[in-house]
Amino acid sequence: MLSAQRVRELYHTLRFRLALWITFIVFLMVVVTNVTVRAFEHRALTRSYDQFLIDSLEDVSHAVARMDQDNRELLFAELQAKRQANEHQSWFAQVFDSSKKLVWASGNSPRLPAPDLIDEFTGPYDEKKHRVNEKKIVLLSGETYYIRCGYLHMELADDLGLVNRNLLFVTICISLAAPLGAYVIAMRAMRPISQIIETAAHLQPTNLNERLPMRGTGDELDQLSCTINGMLDRLASFIDQNRDFVANAAHELRSPLAAIRSSVEVGLNRSRSAEEYATILTDVIEEIGRLAGLVNRLLILAEGDAGRLAGKEQYTSLDKIVSESIDMFSAVAESRGVRLAIGDFSAAVVPGDETYIRQIVRNLIDNAIKYNRDDGEVIVHLRTDLARKQAVLIVQDTGIGIDGEGLSRIFERFYRADKARTREKERAGFGLGLSICRTILQALHGEITVESTVGRGTTFTVLLPLILDPPVNLANQMSATPRIAV
Ligand code: ADP
Repeated sequence: MLSAQRVRELYHTLRFRLALWITFIVFLMVVVTNVTVRAFEHRALTRSYDQFLIDSLEDVSHAVARMDQDNRELLFAELQAKRQANEHQSWFAQVFDSSKKLVWASGNSPRLPAPDLIDEFTGPYDEKKHRVNEKKIVLLSGETYYIRCGYLHMELADDLGLVNRNLLFVTICISLAAPLGAYVIAMRAMRPISQIIETAAHLQPTNLNERLPMRGTGDELDQLSCTINGMLDRLASFIDQNRDFVANAAHELRSPLAAIRSSVEVGLNRSRSAEEYATILTDVIEEIGRLAGLVNRLLILAEGDAGRLAGKEQYTSLDKIVSESIDMFSAVAESRGVRLAIGDFSAAVVPGDETYIRQIVRNLIDNAIKYNRDDGEVIVHLRTDLARKQAVLIVQDTGIGIDGEGLSRIFERFYRADKARTREKERAGFGLGLSICRTILQALHGEITVESTVGRGTTFTVLLPLILDPPVNLANQMSATPRIAV
């Protein structure tokens, strides 16, 4: 027996509710069909009985029309034979003369009042429920007769009862079979969903290799499996990326820590002069600075991943940042034998925290100098596209360039195209600069693209929304063209 708890549980399953609905709909259809069939059957049977009555009335009228003194008995015998042939319908006929006196009646004729409803159906009107049709005929000889044919209405009711009983039997059969059939159909329909639930229940973040089976039917459930599989692919790749990210971060954090530790150990292993300690501490400070730089970069990426990179509501004068950065990098560029110059230069206010915007500009200029050749050149353009309401920053270098694989991966975290080609090993980065640029730009609805030819140089283009009506303090701040111009 099903407990109340089990029934409640069952009711909450989709297959049970689906089965209930199917049963209800089948039941409803059976009832409607039943009612319709009964109504049609009643009409059809009544019509066929009445038609028979009309035909038989015609037959009897023709027979009576042929009547004369000589063939009278023969004719009545003929009518009697007709009655016997239609006994199952309790058919009867009556012939009345012009004074409505019964002249002849078939053997089973009921006692009915004299005819008065000429050419019309009547009944069931007497206690035995006879349905009759009557007609007046006038013979060639001038004699008038009234003919009446009828049948027992109960016969019709019996036939209808048979139809009803058959219908009831079919209804009961369908009503019993419907819930069972509906449950089987619901089970079959829900089977793929059960498989989806089962597979999804197995999935663990540590093992996202399992995929839902595709039945190849292309129906909604197949589409659902396909969507979930796609989502699992994306989740697995996201988790892989994060795993790599954590591993790389740990690896990068380890190097400066190891350097700090060994410097401190060197300082401790014997007593040293004040100059030696100063050198060791300078090394330690340098490594701590590198460590702090890495942690800051990781924090920006983490904030970006969490969608918390604020600053969209702040404005920054991009021309001021570009101008400052060029001034700042001019000495470095000179020391590396790279010519750093400004090309087009327009005033532009963009959304974003000044620190983040500065980070983008410095990363790009720093890379352009770092990955350049001797006697190379870096040109920075700052343009505004008023039609598209965009500020366009272009950092163009004549450096080593980036190959196809590098181009598709340079925005990945910790990716470094070719560590061996970096001109200055001591300035080798973490491979995070460009991914930070992209993270910040995504948060500000900006964009970064790159074009490069190996051996000829690279061009980075940054697009940022342009603020057309900047706050007064920023508008006044707009800088003059930097000192180094083309
Ligand atoms: P890194 O801190 O290593 O510079 P980035 O994310 O800024 O990290 O750059 C990723 C990689 O892209 C670099 O290691 C370098 O190989 C390549 N790259 C970036 N900018 C340039 C450039 N201007 N010219 C050539 N290669 C570049």
